[in-house]
Amino acid sequence: MINFKEVKNPMPEQDPKVRARNFKEVASGYTPEQAVNEAMRCLKCRNKPCTKGCPVMVKIPEFVAKIAKGEFEAAYQIISETSALPRICGRVCPQENQCEGVCVRGLRGEPVSIGRLERFAADWHAEHVKEYDAASEVAESNGKKVAVVGAGPAGLTCAGDLANKGYEVTVFESLHKPGGVLAYGIPEFRLPKDIVAAEVGKLEEKGVTFVNNAIIGRAETVDELMDEGYEAVFVGTGAGLPSFMNIPGENLLGVCSANEYLTRINLMKGYLDEYDTPVPPGKKIAVVGGGNVAMDAARCAMRMGAEKVYIVYRRSMEEIPARREEIHHAIEEGIDFQLLRNPVKVIGDEEGHVTGIECVKMKLGEPDASGRRRPVEIEGSNYVLDVDCVIMAIGTKLNKLILDTTEELEANDRGGIGTDEGAATNREGIYAGGDAVTGAATVILAMGAGKTAAASIDEYLTGK
Ligand SMILES: Cc1cc2nc3c(=O)[nH]c(=O)nc-3n(C[C@H](O)[C@H](O)[C@H](O)COP(=O)(O)OP(=O)(O)OC[C@H]3O[C@@H](n4cnc5c(N)ncnc54)[C@H](O)[C@@H]3O)c2cc1C
Repeated sequence: MINFKEVKNPMPEQDPKVRARNFKEVASGYTPEQAVNEAMRCLKCRNKPCTKGCPVMVKIPEFVAKIAKGEFEAAYQIISETSALPRICGRVCPQENQCEGVCVRGLRGEPVSIGRLERFAADWHAEHVKEYDAASEVAESNGKKVAVVGAGPAGLTCAGDLANKGYEVTVFESLHKPGGVLAYGIPEFRLPKDIVAAEVGKLEEKGVTFVNNAIIGRAETVDELMDEGYEAVFVGTGAGLPSFMNIPGENLLGVCSANEYLTRINLMKGYLDEYDTPVPPGKKIAVVGGGNVAMDAARCAMRMGAEKVYIVYRRSMEEIPARREEIHHAIEEGIDFQLLRNPVKVIGDEEGHVTGIECVKMKLGEPDASGRRRPVEIEGSNYVLDVDCVIMAIGTKLNKLILDTTEELEANDRGGIGTDEGAATNREGIYAGGDAVTGAATVILAMGAGKTAAASIDEYLTGK
């Protein structure tokens, strides 16, 4: 018999064989009974390590205690004091490295499933509290205009917090839909897009204006926005510029970046028949990389009808950076993990189409600057994987457009936009946060940065 004191209450999921061919959400969430049972596993630690492990300091033991008592709306209210997007964070936060990673229950057995409980409370609120009256939440305007550049989690959080304080906020987004990676990157089966749309809708009801298809730095610059009367600007433009390996054959037909592949499928709905978005076809696909982006691309490829999907990753399962849950799901769905393997060449036919990827086997050497053991090639171990499509998911970089077009805006030593602890840049009135500052990171860190920036902007404009 399962001892639920030691292991998490499982969350119902679609059968792996079935879900590997559809885009419906993998997990259906706890029932109220399961949620109460899971919440009762909390040890109510006095020093609350879980809250300290959360980048936005959600009062975890407090909301979990409410769920244990069946007071689900009260639980939601506690979470939303500090987290702007709980339905999203409950689904995509890397809890194993944050709150759940330090849960005392985890010392003997599995930690409390804080992420699933957060998701449960937020979904319960969305489903049951229909009389939500956004108008009553609209703060009285203070007449001050703020521009937010980029509608990812950093920009959305900053916009929401400023709107709550009465600022007139306009969000400029370069794509045709707000949401950032939540809309174009993370697939429907992990984060249904109606949840992202609902969060955006709440901001609109609070009076936030969204201007889509507006590339700041091209259409107009940050300096021009300030000339137009925006008294402060928050830049949350992410780090969406894909990296490539610079190996021979990367320009062949059938090679693409994971960002492009995922954007075509998620944002441009390439998985739905009624949309004519072309998606790189492929029956045998190699996805290069081991992060969340690689898992998402591989799992989408399976759902798009591929017969065989490989993950090619140069280190071992111990170092692979993707969330454990996503790796587990990918394995269940039949993705073939080629670990300790590194591509050296993409092979093509006379017409320039991909026919294979040449890889070399690797072994782990001494730790490198990141502390992880460095992969070293095993000479002469090359072999060819027979594939017709290669998706590169080896990381993304910051797009320099805002740095290049904003007068005297300084970069930090990682190439991101330079800020102090309060998200202020070297230019008065210009703030930045999220991946645009840190490089590719996480949703919750981007949200935290948006919150910090909103508080700093408020302090700056109140004192002005
Ligand atoms: C496929 C994928 C899966 C991921 N999975 C997870 C996960 O499971 N859990 C997790 O915590 N994190 C995950 N991440 C990372 C996480 O999504 C990011 O760290 C987070 O979205 C960063 O938020 P942001 O607001 O800084 O930037 P983004 O989400 O990148 O948003 C930036 C927005 O700015 C817009 N923009 C860019 N330039 C301009 C411009 N010049 N003018 C106007 N708009 C502009 C972009 O179009 C974009 O909409 C994933 C990332 C990817 C790509």
